[in-house]
Amino acid sequence: MTYLIGVDLGGTFIKTALVSREGKLVHKVEIPSEGERGPDGVIINIIRSVKSVVKEKGVDLKKVKAIGIGSPGPMDTKNGIVRKAVNLPGWVNIPLRDRIQSAFGIPANLENDANAAAYAEYWKGAGQNACLMIAYTLGTGVGGGIIIEGKLIRGTNDCAGELGHMTIVPDGDPCACGNRGCLESYASANSLVRRAMAKIKSGAQTILRQWIDEGKPLTSKLIDEARLAGDSFSRDAMIEAGTYLGLGMSAVVSALNPDIIVVGGGMMKAGEVLLEPARVEVKRRVFAEHFAKLKILPARLGNDAGVIGAAGLLIERGIVR
Ligand SMILES: [Zn+2]
Repeated sequence: MTYLIGVDLGGTFIKTALVSREGKLVHKVEIPSEGERGPDGVIINIIRSVKSVVKEKGVDLKKVKAIGIGSPGPMDTKNGIVRKAVNLPGWVNIPLRDRIQSAFGIPANLENDANAAAYAEYWKGAGQNACLMIAYTLGTGVGGGIIIEGKLIRGTNDCAGELGHMTIVPDGDPCACGNRGCLESYASANSLVRRAMAKIKSGAQTILRQWIDEGKPLTSKLIDEARLAGDSFSRDAMIEAGTYLGLGMSAVVSALNPDIIVVGGGMMKAGEVLLEPARVEVKRRVFAEHFAKLKILPARLGNDAGVIGAAGLLIERGIVR
């Protein structure tokens, strides 16, 4: 049996998995990134995580064909360089791929983390057999990915698939990227909280007011708990986020005519209360032909998508046959 390794480098944790050539997750480890130790310290941790994932499973490192890494961007995937990683201090022009390659003497590959998660859903998740798949990740921010006939669309400067930064409201709410009115400012967990808080402060009736007074921090999870407890304000907040998501999707659907859109990320614990308004909004805005065969589905791989996709892209790139 031959193996691949997938690494999901995040601001807080490094997740590393042993994955079979067929895409089965065999074993996974998770260790703190320790970003405060700078790029060298984080790279040492990545190397440590690769060694421990094979050791814990009793697999000989010689059976590992290649190592795929998903990292926050922007980046140069062709040359394996992380240009900048917002949540990792000191990461400017780090040749991460070559550092990992020389540590183990086997090929490595660098990809955008959201693209890796999107590819995983195409390879082994909700988007299998899609002709043209679009993925959204609704977390702190909004990530995306585009896969056409099995190929990840990376774009001229490795910046394709930034679906969270499509403008959906002219001169709308400010976004972390510097633009205003991005989808991320309306459909991310952060924006859900920010918009709900503004409405609560201006007098909206909701159980959340009492929970906040009791000292609970307002999070997207708390809003979903309130929704499940029957709070109509919280339900409406979710429907609003889902409607904006659908608004963003409708532009992509008009441009690319996908057959499957997969939606994942922490916020998707709320599930259909986000997806159903998105479907309604897309249907309202696109041609009947666009909507006829379109499926908008929840992601299936959860927190494992990043590591599985990082491994899968080794095959997509032709590094592993
Ligand atoms: Zn933005």
